[in-house]
Amino acid sequence: MRKFLGVFVVLLLALTLAACSSGSSGDGDKGFVGIAMPTKSSERWVDDGNNMKAEFEKLGYKVDLQYAEDVVENQVSQIENMITKGVDVLVIASIDGEALTNVLDKAASQDIPVIAYDRLIRKSEHVSYYATFDNFKVGVLQASYIEEKLGLKDGKGPFNIELFAGSPDDNNAYFFFDGAMSVLQPYIDSGKLVVGSGQTDFDQVATLRWDGATAQARMDNLLSANYTTENVDAVLSPYDGISIGILSSLKGVGYGSADKPLPVITGQDAELASVKSIIAGEQTQTVFKDTRELAKKAVEMAEAVLEGKEAEVNDTETYDNGVKVVPSYLLEPVSVDASNYEEILVNGGYYTADEVK
Ligand code: BGC
Repeated sequence: MRKFLGVFVVLLLALTLAACSSGSSGDGDKGFVGIAMPTKSSERWVDDGNNMKAEFEKLGYKVDLQYAEDVVENQVSQIENMITKGVDVLVIASIDGEALTNVLDKAASQDIPVIAYDRLIRKSEHVSYYATFDNFKVGVLQASYIEEKLGLKDGKGPFNIELFAGSPDDNNAYFFFDGAMSVLQPYIDSGKLVVGSGQTDFDQVATLRWDGATAQARMDNLLSANYTTENVDAVLSPYDGISIGILSSLKGVGYGSADKPLPVITGQDAELASVKSIIAGEQTQTVFKDTRELAKKAVEMAEAVLEGKEAEVNDTETYDNGVKVVPSYLLEPVSVDASNYEEILVNGGYYTADEVK
């Protein structure tokens, strides 16, 4: 009998604990948050979404998290639905930064504040805050890596390089490219870097929707048109998915052998496939942006606007969205290659040692 009583008490305790913990997580006591993310096709956005959802739920918010698979109209209707469902705040990583003006007008008419997540939302006054990384610095890190690896500072060269930029509808793409060109342009001007294709304008080198296959097709063309007698020594790539596409193209024409080594290839996001590629000696570098930290920042901003308080920002000048300068918090990006991935990504807890194997 005693034994049964003991089991009963333990069960009762467990049930009470379970009830308490479900009461404090994600039951919506604190409010209802709509999170609109661009696509699940890139790991980083999956992590961003999950990290934010977990943070919000821990604090007692209910969350509606949606991905639009890079279709602008889908994102607009997902946000419309969130407004209809009565969210209290919206956190949005836009696909096309200029396509949300009307839907944000609707949000404003219902007093729903908006936080721009990682990508600036342009052409709307209804953006309260912007949580992101130092996007210009991302480009500087990529280009400085090329500068260092090729020994440009020591006067080495000339080297052949090709340039890739991100999606023209993403404000970040311009910042990354401008940051990179702030380092590379002097070497192009002095002839130490030669862009074989001659394509150096953003519009010529942009990659719609950051699509790896689009980049691969462009690289195929660049190689067949300009590199039949010479090798390409470096490729500025703004994002890991693009880097992987470029690598396929290069390997397809025999790069990666002793007489035709792979060029220095940059990237961004420290996606698992790229980290493995770096460890295997193919992609050379990536830029790590800790999505756990970004998620925390966005959550703080959302809480602040909901509580009628000011959020912490560290930049009130850089991000003019065409209507206003959006107060921003910029986190620090970190350059990662084979020499420090373990310290930064594994010891930092972003990936386990098994994951990167
Ligand atoms: C993000 C990058 C990402 C790219 C493609 C940009 O807006 O800032 O981290 O690589 O989109 O998803």
